[in-house]
Amino acid sequence: MSKNKGILIVVSGPSGVGKGTVVDMLLKKLPRAVLSVSCTTRAPREGEQNGKSYFFISKQAFLKMIDEGGFLEYSNHFENYYGTPRFFVEEKLKDSDVILEIDVDGAENVKKLYPDALLLMITPPSKDELIRRLKMRGTEDETLIQHRLERADYELSKSKIYDYTVINDDLNQTVDNILKIVETRRKG
Ligand code: 5GP
Repeated sequence: MSKNKGILIVVSGPSGVGKGTVVDMLLKKLPRAVLSVSCTTRAPREGEQNGKSYFFISKQAFLKMIDEGGFLEYSNHFENYYGTPRFFVEEKLKDSDVILEIDVDGAENVKKLYPDALLLMITPPSKDELIRRLKMRGTEDETLIQHRLERADYELSKSKIYDYTVINDDLNQTVDNILKIVETRRKG
């Protein structure tokens, strides 16, 4: 039995599915929840702030942090590294819910370390809708969009390891569904 009072909530899903918006709304509605800000070696997109969206660090700094055991988990895709800083999660979980917005490989590793973690996969209503959302975002060129769609197939193929799959059709409904799932878990 874990000594932690909080629930570790892992949110995954293909790029463009709307995870970021879902997580922002969850943070407003779950008073005890905090977001773990990941480190990444990718360049910031327009509007992304260091320390808020991610900690944007160099590859060298990332590799050093791996060596020092500073990550709870990390993975490498789209030619960049992404990792969850260990200390923040371990400390916050003692009395808060902690939300991780990470990919399927990361989620798999977190589940090994924290079998009680609540794994949520957010899926699009359809592949066409995912393509539409990715293009609407307008932050990436065609090659990268193609890359992200291929990755989406991989992510969706891993949905079996998740406790719940939630279809993000109507945003408010999606968030309500997740809140119910979290409350059910809290009651044990
Ligand atoms: P993006 O470049 O679109 O911000 O993120 C690409 C992917 O990396 C998304 O699936 C996102 O959930 C994942 N990701 C973000 N932070 C982390 C992390 O700390 N660890 C892992 N494993 N994946 C992450």
